[in-house]
Amino acid sequence: MTEMSPCIRRNRKTRIVATLGPASSSKERIKELFLAGVDVFRLNMSHGEHEEKEALVHTIRAVEREVERPIAILADLQGPKLRIGKFANGPVNLKTGGMFTLDLTDIPGNELRAPLPHKEIFDALEIGTELLLDDGKIRLKVEEIDGESAKCRILVGGPLSDKKGVNVPNAVLPLAALTDKDRKDLTFALKCGADWIALSFVQRAADVAEAKKLVGGKAAVMAKIEKPAAVNSLNEILELADGVMVARGDLGVEEPLENVPGIQKQLIQAARREGKPVVVATQMLESMIKAPVPTRAEVSDVATAVMDGADAVMLSAESAVGDYPIEAVEVMNRVAMRIEGEANYHTHRRDDRASPNATTEDAISAAARQVSDTVDAKAIVTFTTSGATALRAARERPNAPILTLTPRISIARRLAIVWGLHTVKTKDVTAFEEMIGKSKRMALRQELAQRGDRIVVTAGVPFGTPGATNVLHIAWVQGDELKGFEQES
Ligand code: PGA
Ligand code: MN
Repeated sequence: MTEMSPCIRRNRKTRIVATLGPASSSKERIKELFLAGVDVFRLNMSHGEHEEKEALVHTIRAVEREVERPIAILADLQGPKLRIGKFANGPVNLKTGGMFTLDLTDIPGNELRAPLPHKEIFDALEIGTELLLDDGKIRLKVEEIDGESAKCRILVGGPLSDKKGVNVPNAVLPLAALTDKDRKDLTFALKCGADWIALSFVQRAADVAEAKKLVGGKAAVMAKIEKPAAVNSLNEILELADGVMVARGDLGVEEPLENVPGIQKQLIQAARREGKPVVVATQMLESMIKAPVPTRAEVSDVATAVMDGADAVMLSAESAVGDYPIEAVEVMNRVAMRIEGEANYHTHRRDDRASPNATTEDAISAAARQVSDTVDAKAIVTFTTSGATALRAARERPNAPILTLTPRISIARRLAIVWGLHTVKTKDVTAFEEMIGKSKRMALRQELAQRGDRIVVTAGVPFGTPGATNVLHIAWVQGDELKGFEQES
């Protein structure tokens, strides 16, 4: 990640998150996924062992060195997600109208029963309570209970396999924000150098506060919005979290499905107002798990998230266990690029833009966007230590790419999930002239600008004072700035 060789640059503002799994764990495959367009790799801590996750982290970092681009790793904690246990002989088929028993034993399941290792559920169940399995695809109704097992009528049947999720929308379950497993996974993820930690089933802002305390600034924290309670305290959660995910899988089980699109729009809008990254997740290209081509509706779904200005769109099973992981990334890449080229996309960004807060930083960021449009600048260059300045620049959703320069690799990686940023790790600058020189050289090296182009540079002077962005400068690129700077880091 030195400045020496020209970098891979996305011709796309929207970012792509891909979940890794058995279909995507070799180095060749991960590199292919990156080259196809993945900016962030998600490790789903619900599945697999630490050993294999650690190997994935090493592989991603090896790819990172080869492609010389910062890559973000998102470790997604399972949270207090309830899941059934495993089956003895692979998936079973539940027949509608039949009976199925869930119990507290750890004996592998079969066609008639399965283990459900959660005492809290059995304590809260009543006759008539409905249980939703596998993202609500299977619907059971409790007919008999004895505290350790529940005999259920299968209202809606279907195939059921190991560790599928269980939702109990109508019962209040006394669950902590982080389970013991989450705490272990968190310690492990931080040790491995994860850049983002995602929290599942956040219910209140206090859940985020608790996690942030444990993370201690070593990673950014993303709150997954998948519970009605979280939707209701969205503003408080957004204040504390570093980013949010529209986790439509569980959200669509806990909420009536028809509520999900509206909540998605509301969340994107709220996150953009805060200037925090928002990821739209789950079933975006679901049919591509088994088919090389998506449905029209799926293409439309990705397009809507892009059009609404989400920072990132996410692949789950499509890239983790699907037959066409690369093709799925390619589809997202093509759809995002196409939509970002639509005239509508520009009017949307203008109309949905949140007005600047009353800070010098926001004033400069808004001015940089406007000036860059007026002079047709090829890039807006921001220097950032904590990443905060870059987030404010991205919040403006400018036309020009935002070339973000930071001395910290951890920040460069973290910012890989943010709309419109092209981040490069580089040595810090200490003087104004040096900063302008470096901006021009980096714009040239990254092939964002060439001879005769203008770039807009924003910075805080004096240097080294965080949050002091107060300078906006228009610079001409001569084209010969690299002379004498062939070696530079
Ligand atoms: P999950 O989260 O895949 O970890 O369940 C995403 C979602 O619920 O949409
Ligand atoms: Mn979920």
